[in-house]
Amino acid sequence: AKKNGRNNCEFFKPEMNRQAKERHSMEVALRNALKHDELLLHYQPIVNVNGGKTDGFEVLLRWQHPGDGLIYPIKFIRLAEETGMIIPIGEWLMRQSCLQIKAWQKQGYEVPRLAINLSAIQFRQKTLVENIVRILDETGVKGHYLTLEITESELIENVEEAIRTLQQLSELGIEISIDDFGTGYSNLSFLKRYQINTLKIDRSFVRDIPGDPDDTAIIDAILAMAHALDLEVIAEGVENEQQLTYLVLHGCTRFQGFYFSEPLPTTEIEKKMENQRTF
Ligand code: C2E
Ligand code: CA
Ligand code: CA
Ligand code: CA
Repeated sequence: AKKNGRNNCEFFKPEMNRQAKERHSMEVALRNALKHDELLLHYQPIVNVNGGKTDGFEVLLRWQHPGDGLIYPIKFIRLAEETGMIIPIGEWLMRQSCLQIKAWQKQGYEVPRLAINLSAIQFRQKTLVENIVRILDETGVKGHYLTLEITESELIENVEEAIRTLQQLSELGIEISIDDFGTGYSNLSFLKRYQINTLKIDRSFVRDIPGDPDDTAIIDAILAMAHALDLEVIAEGVENEQQLTYLVLHGCTRFQGFYFSEPLPTTEIEKKMENQRTF
């Protein structure tokens, strides 16, 4: 048995070694990414069926790796969080988003709100609000051009502090969306405790509608609750007309998903905005 154990160990060692090495080189590369300007933003329209207008863009992070091409956040956000790099990356992203808003305004576009994802580490940062205030000041952008997307789990701990943070953000004109709504474990009482504007129905509930009776029941319940509590709802991951029809018939008015548009780079988004010029 002993011998066997050692064999197992020797069998796994090179593999673990390889993973550790990969992780390390990824970490080094990510540190350089920010320095070398390899990070960029894509924007996915959030569409309001009342008038069919785009009334927001979600900002989604991308990494243009010199060797490996375009890398999606699923590959590197976790690492960025574990290493704390999400803090400088998040600040860069916030500033970059504000600069983009400014640039689009100068070009005469009617700029909708940008929704920015905030990870738990950022949300719990003591200096979050002052950092945001500084970035808004430096770029000359008003808070009411921004929404922050956070998840339910970020609101479970440090309730008093979270209430204060959300209150301060709201005073700046910044809205709060609960991302991936329905996938957290929290009881729903947080909805009345906090200054929240919007629930984003997680795309796992949208995927199998209208065919799946569990999912339609969950969606109906979220819509009814949001209506009663006077919260906005955005359905995420809308990919086809059947899903859209179900959602519209059940009172959902705002949507995001490939059916309308994938997340797009700046130049593509500008083409879409051409018909929403103010001058
Ligand atoms: P999320 O916040 O739930 O973002 C929505 C994700 O769903 C995006 O993936 C988007 O491309 C994808 N999506 C949109 N419409 C559809 C659809 O119709 N069908 C399907 N199957 N997918 C759709 P993406 O860009 O790969 O981002 C994945 C996750 O990475 C995000 O999920 C978010 O949690 C995280 N993320 C992205 N950018 C940032 C960021 O700047 N900061 C932080 N902290 N996290 C980010
Ligand atoms: Ca999001
Ligand atoms: Ca989401
Ligand atoms: Ca997510």
